[in-house]
Amino acid sequence: MSKMRLFSRLQCCCSSNFARYALVLPVLLFGINAISGQKTESLPILCGNEVFDHIVKNRYPDLHRAFRATFEESQNRPVAAADRSPVTIRVVVHVVWKNPEENLADSIILDQIAGLNEDYNRQNADTANLRDIFKPAAGNPQVTFELAEIVRVQTTANFELSLLGSDLLLNLKTGSQGGSDARDPAQYLNLWVCKIQPLTFGGLTLGQVLGFAFPPNNLGNWPADSGAPTLEQDGVVLDFRTIGRNNPNLVENPDGSGGNLTIRGRTATHEIGHYLGLRHIWGDGGVLGLPNDCNQSDGIDDTPFAGAQSAFDCDKTRNSCNKMEPHYGMDMPDLVENYMDYSSEDCMNMFSQGQAAHIQSVLAGPRKSLVQTSAAPLTVIGAEMPRLYPNPARAGLARLVLPGQWQSGVIDLIGADGRIVQRIEPAGGSIQVEQQIRLDTDRLQPGWYAVRVQTAARVWVEQLLLLP
Ligand SMILES: [Zn+2]
Repeated sequence: MSKMRLFSRLQCCCSSNFARYALVLPVLLFGINAISGQKTESLPILCGNEVFDHIVKNRYPDLHRAFRATFEESQNRPVAAADRSPVTIRVVVHVVWKNPEENLADSIILDQIAGLNEDYNRQNADTANLRDIFKPAAGNPQVTFELAEIVRVQTTANFELSLLGSDLLLNLKTGSQGGSDARDPAQYLNLWVCKIQPLTFGGLTLGQVLGFAFPPNNLGNWPADSGAPTLEQDGVVLDFRTIGRNNPNLVENPDGSGGNLTIRGRTATHEIGHYLGLRHIWGDGGVLGLPNDCNQSDGIDDTPFAGAQSAFDCDKTRNSCNKMEPHYGMDMPDLVENYMDYSSEDCMNMFSQGQAAHIQSVLAGPRKSLVQTSAAPLTVIGAEMPRLYPNPARAGLARLVLPGQWQSGVIDLIGADGRIVQRIEPAGGSIQVEQQIRLDTDRLQPGWYAVRVQTAARVWVEQLLLLP
């Protein structure tokens, strides 16, 4: 009933644009409502890639076709299992903030990077929660994310996706409009963090977008002179409340039950999945004009058909499509453990083998320029940045080299839990061309750490992996 009330209110806001969107918006709303429960007073939560797809499909059909063609091409050129190898992607995090709570601490961003590295290497502790019938299908994308830089921009701008608009938060990605310019998108995954305003239509609040991402595109397919978003917008946008597992800013439950949505940094895992070519596992049936008949596919064989997205719960009894799955040779329940569903982040714990293979195919194809081979030297942005070596390092061996301008900085060694395990204050004295500092890692447990150098003007952060 509440759905009808929501829809009838929409009909009241007829504008010249309404006819164009009338066919699309109701199904989008029904899709959102399916995950929001019955209480319309709560704010539905959604991944913005539905909105993204809607805008691109309607405003930039050439670009939409290019994204689809790139997906098909990646599917048709799988990387043989024997040829798959661990890859590293460098990440630039742009924190674009207005209110102080949006200016996330380094420790929260570092925790997010650590969580991504667990999820994308199947080292997350909750892999054990995967149901036995799906264990053979669990895959490992073998992608490591390395934090290259945190860029902080204080702004007065608002960031709001508009269903009737044509821009996809262009201002967030434009320094002259209160945002932050991308670092070379061919070489870095640009990850913008901001407060995403609620999604509205005709003054009616439809929901809260937590993030969205550009899917991969062969560079030659970016349509020239079409007014479409350019390569400089490529990357991932995330709401500041979704970052990290130690973030004090919370997202309310979408079902109106009070409490807060469980956030385990997996909005980033999900959105970067889109960035690396994955689609929602239910194939987006029931939204954006697609029928909801269990025939919508994400193009990946080992993610079972689903008639709808999960409702932010962990219902492992759900089987929304009674349908023979060719890959499994039987009907299968919905795969609520998958990162590309809308499950609670509490029960997400896996990519499938098909998804992992697709990610590797994308990283050998349209996103090849991102890949850092382990043999390549660490590249830092700009000249004269601190250097950490060796990395990974055995306990006691990690060293930090500081160029002159960084020698006035405070050095912190930070654990995965965000606590500072060692602080080195600047020694003073004359500035040298380079200063070498031995980090006190002798007694530390193996694992991920972060090294941060903070001067009055700048912050530099690098991940350090201590080996056993
Ligand atoms: Zn999504």
